Amino acid sequence: MQALMTTPGEPGAVRVDAADEPRGDGVRIRTLEVGVCGTDREIADGEFGVAPPGDDHLILGHEFLGQVLEDAAGFSAGELVTATVRRSCGRCAACAAGSPDACDTGDYTERGITALHGFASEVVVERPEHLVRIPASLGRLGVLAEPGSICARAIRHATTIGERQVWTPRRALVIGAGAIGMLATYLLRLRDLQVWTAARRADTGKAELVRACGAEYVSTDATPLHELREAVGGFDLVVEAAGDADVMAAVLGLLRRNGVGCLLGLDAHRRPITIDSGIFAVDTVIQNHVLFGSVNAHADDWRDAVEQLDAIRARWPEALEAMIGLRVAPDRFADAFGFRGVKATLQFHEAP
Ligand code: BGC
Repeated sequence: MQALMTTPGEPGAVRVDAADEPRGDGVRIRTLEVGVCGTDREIADGEFGVAPPGDDHLILGHEFLGQVLEDAAGFSAGELVTATVRRSCGRCAACAAGSPDACDTGDYTERGITALHGFASEVVVERPEHLVRIPASLGRLGVLAEPGSICARAIRHATTIGERQVWTPRRALVIGAGAIGMLATYLLRLRDLQVWTAARRADTGKAELVRACGAEYVSTDATPLHELREAVGGFDLVVEAAGDADVMAAVLGLLRRNGVGCLLGLDAHRRPITIDSGIFAVDTVIQNHVLFGSVNAHADDWRDAVEQLDAIRARWPEALEAMIGLRVAPDRFADAFGFRGVKATLQFHEAP
């Protein structure tokens, strides 16, 4: 079978090549579509990713939509499924409780990222407990379940943190208009928060997509975030999905009283960053601010994300389709990796 793979640590080694059909216990699934994200690009650039023990290559892909090939373990042939990404370290209380998203050793594995092959191959085998059903109504848009699950976890954690005291969030700021930023925008609009979504450039397509759900698009080239904060009066919730350490540090200063800031982006470029001492050492305390990071997602977040994606589809019928700006065959992976819109996917088989 054909698979999209790379040699971790080697920049530019991504290729479509023959791979052995997966064996082992589990449900056999025909891969329909695999999404491409920033993590895949980092792996392709040789900056991240680990091959499974004994292999020198890593099959990519952790944003998965597939169709069950044969009845197995309660799943029926033809059903659409996605699969969670992270697997237990086998040694910590969080993993034992079914929450590898909170793994305490860091020795977890992740499909398509760390020590496990991913889903970017014609056929996939996965254990039933890692599968999440995609309703037929959501169809091929189910490929957005993985980034949706990241947002669902982030909002769940932010809500838990906010609600440690009386909290009635009204205004949210999402920084970044990639897939995570865009999906976070829509999930927050489903909760009827007033949402501003900020990205550096004025981008008509992204701006339209943001406005379609009643959020406001802000180009920070035109309106810097601190000016937006002044105009709006601060945010109850800020989700940073741009992956810029300077912007991440600025999040505390964008919060209003009792505000919660959530960091989802990554910026691996090491350098000192500065933060105003009044914001850091006074307001954080006096105004009960919290800044936290979130990675990966619990199986419950995946189910929640799938449900909410379907609710987004019902309320704003065009939006999710518009987010997937490029669908190409696996051998056109270079186009998908170079895509600058919200989401590009690789299509392994036609969707039903
Ligand atoms: C994935 C997460 C994963 C993280 C770190 C992200 O791109 O969405 O599931 O935990 O990378 O490897």
